[in-house]
Amino acid sequence: MAEPIDILFINPGDREQIYQDLGDEFCGIEPPVFAGLFATYVRQKGASAAIYDTPAMLVPAAEAARVAVEEYAPRLVVIPVYGFQPSASTQNMGSAGKIAQLIKEVRPDLPILMTGTHPAALPKRTMQDEMVDFVCDGEGPVTIWKTFEALKAGGRGFDTIPSLWWRDEDGGIHAPSAHEALISDLDGEMPGIAWDLLPMDRYRAHNWHCFSHIDRRKPYASMHTSLGCPFHCSFCCINAPFGKPSYRLWSPEVVVSEIDFLVERYGVYNIKFVDEMFVLNKRHVAGICDLLTKRDYKVNIWAYGRVDTMHDELLDKLKAGGVNWICLGIESASDYVRDGAEKVFTNQDVTDTVRRIQAAGIYIIGNYVFGLPDDSMERMQQTLDLAQELNCEFANFYSAMAYPGSKLYDMAVEQGLKLPREWHHFSQHGYETLPLANRFVSAADILGFRDQAWMTYFTEPKYLSMVRDKFGQDVVDHIGRMTQVPLKRKILGQ
Ligand code: SF4
Repeated sequence: MAEPIDILFINPGDREQIYQDLGDEFCGIEPPVFAGLFATYVRQKGASAAIYDTPAMLVPAAEAARVAVEEYAPRLVVIPVYGFQPSASTQNMGSAGKIAQLIKEVRPDLPILMTGTHPAALPKRTMQDEMVDFVCDGEGPVTIWKTFEALKAGGRGFDTIPSLWWRDEDGGIHAPSAHEALISDLDGEMPGIAWDLLPMDRYRAHNWHCFSHIDRRKPYASMHTSLGCPFHCSFCCINAPFGKPSYRLWSPEVVVSEIDFLVERYGVYNIKFVDEMFVLNKRHVAGICDLLTKRDYKVNIWAYGRVDTMHDELLDKLKAGGVNWICLGIESASDYVRDGAEKVFTNQDVTDTVRRIQAAGIYIIGNYVFGLPDDSMERMQQTLDLAQELNCEFANFYSAMAYPGSKLYDMAVEQGLKLPREWHHFSQHGYETLPLANRFVSAADILGFRDQAWMTYFTEPKYLSMVRDKFGQDVVDHIGRMTQVPLKRKILGQ
């Protein structure tokens, strides 16, 4: 047995359930960045911490629960329910709930706190449905620390902890009276991820991120340089834990010293900036890129930008700093659909931005969504046409989902629209995936269109020819194997 520790963070997740067979070779395996940040925070306060990464260890919930109880025997278990992106929190709730239940079956006295995007969006329901003692409806670290202190003091004072939902001895559920204040000094209070607590040999970059060296997807790391997003896109739930649209930054010096550590200690070369909006603050982006350029590590970074934030003066700096891939939320070819999602730019803006980024030597992953409110079969076809015309180096095709914490979810509940029965049905690649229907298209037609669009894009000769020219035949072969992986869908009768 390992040394007893104060706080054990368990990252939930079931790769098979979420990705089907795509999880074997093609998808990435990312470190649990929030568990890593929270571990740093509580260690700075003086607690000992450990992290158990269930999907990285490729084990079922039962093994995560066994390890928690038998190997760590912590004073507090924290399950941070996040995903690779904000929308991926809900799909992990099934695994999170199962782990909590299995722990409670053998150790009913072991306190469990759940936090993350989904629990923050639906704290009362999470308290009602899951076998947990506490739910945090805020950012997390301050609430976790105060809860741990209250437990140490004999279980008193939960009612004074901001953002803490708690259960009394009779099972009554209590809501917090205040919201957790957001950490303002990220550099000082949460300066990076507790990498030493993670199984670093397990992490693997997404396939496209390594199209320039497809056989070297490890080692890999993902990390934040900022938290939150100031925008309000209707389908997005990113700000649920923060209580409002917000944006806070680590300093370029702290970000790059974390990269120094990753490069020197683990030989990490492939890095994802998890920030949903990395290319926004010019000084921040330029500061990080200039420091990386001086290091000359030749890192391979991918990061998110928005069509309206990719300013010319940043493009060369991004490339020089090692940002080789930018992910752009293009979403739809229809202004009408995009406006409804509060993304106001034209197709010409999209095309111009894509070409400017590519001219700087940076590759693009275009993100597209089918089935947003106001989308129709005709408009979805226009979106696929635009994707094929842009012919970005990679593309993600999503079905619209009403994720808890988004305006779309509130609207769907208000209008009584059919939502998935179980949380893992919110996964994009699962067998039981259920998109949100709209007044023009059914859920089955949206998912069927999405899957066909994906296949069309990745088997199109024009796309494969571009890939061959830029990355070589081995990447074309890799994509060929990817399109052979069957993705079964219950709703389509497969
Ligand atoms: S720009 Fe929109 S979709 Fe992207 S993180 Fe911000 S709110 Fe979410």
